[in-house]
Amino acid sequence: MEKLKKRIQQIKKKRPGYGEILDFYQKVKEAQDQVKASLKIDPIRLKKEWKELLAKEGFSLIHKEEFPLDIEASHKLFRDLCQIGKEANPHMAEQVKKIKKAIDNNKIDLKNLLKKGVKEQRIEQMADELGLDKKVFLFLVQSSIKPSIEAGMEQLRGELDPETWLKGYCPMCGSLPSLSLLKVEVGKRYLLCSFCGYHWRIDRIFCPFCENKDQESLHYLFAEGEEAYRIDLCEKCHQYIKTVDLRKMEESDPFLEDLATPHLDILAKQKGYKKPIPNPWTT
Ligand SMILES: [Zn+2]
Ligand SMILES: [Zn+2]
Repeated sequence: MEKLKKRIQQIKKKRPGYGEILDFYQKVKEAQDQVKASLKIDPIRLKKEWKELLAKEGFSLIHKEEFPLDIEASHKLFRDLCQIGKEANPHMAEQVKKIKKAIDNNKIDLKNLLKKGVKEQRIEQMADELGLDKKVFLFLVQSSIKPSIEAGMEQLRGELDPETWLKGYCPMCGSLPSLSLLKVEVGKRYLLCSFCGYHWRIDRIFCPFCENKDQESLHYLFAEGEEAYRIDLCEKCHQYIKTVDLRKMEESDPFLEDLATPHLDILAKQKGYKKPIPNPWTT
C-alpha cells in the first residue's frame, strides 16, 4: 500500500488533473485490503476431468461462478465502496443514491446480487431495469467480490503454467483480459485477467479478442513522453487493449496505470476502436 501511495503521488505530480480518479482508486484499494485480512473462503476442490479438459479442449480451469465468495465481507465492502463513490464525483454520487433507493425499496437484494456478481449480463440487465450506469454498477459489484475472487485465484495458481497457454482468454476462469503487460528484460508479453487477476503469457503480435496474428493489421500508438504505455489496435476486430510496460517503472499496480491513462482510451476511441472491458471512469 505504501508503494502504491508513492506511485499515486508521482502520477499526480505529472498529471494533476487526474487527482480525483487517483484518490478514488487509493480509497478503493484501502477498503479492499482491509477486507482481505479477515477473509473466509472455502477451498476450491478441483476435479481431475477439469484439468484434462483444460489441456485437451482449451477450457478454463473453473467457471467464474465456481469461485467461493465471502458474502459477509463482500457485503461490507459494497457498502464501503458506495460511500467512497458518493464522495468521488457527482456522477457516482448520483448512482449510489439510486442504488441505495433500490435497496431500500427491495428492488435489489444485495447479498443475492453479490452471489450473482460473477454474471455480468445479469448485472447489466439489472442496471438497465433500475436506470443505472452499467459500468459503475458492475464496478461496485465486482470490486466488492474481488478480494474473494483473488484469494480463489491464488489457491489455484499452482495448477497452471502461465507461460504455455498463449490464448486470448484466461486459463483460470475464461474471462477476457483488461490489460496487457510487458515484463522481464526480453519483453515477454502477458495478459491480465479482468475478472480474477491471473497473468498469462501471449505472443507479442496477437489480438486477444479475435486471435489475429497478422502483423499488417496490428498496430500500436503511444503518447509522446509516455513510452511506458501503448494502445494495441487490431484492424480486424476494431478493438484495442492497453499495454503497460512494467520494465519502465520501478513498482506499480497495473490497474492503477490503466486508470491513470484515460487520454489513451480517448485517443483510441477517436480513431474508432472499442475496448471490450470497460472501466468505471472512461467510456
Ligand atoms: Zn481469470
Ligand atoms: Zn482483433
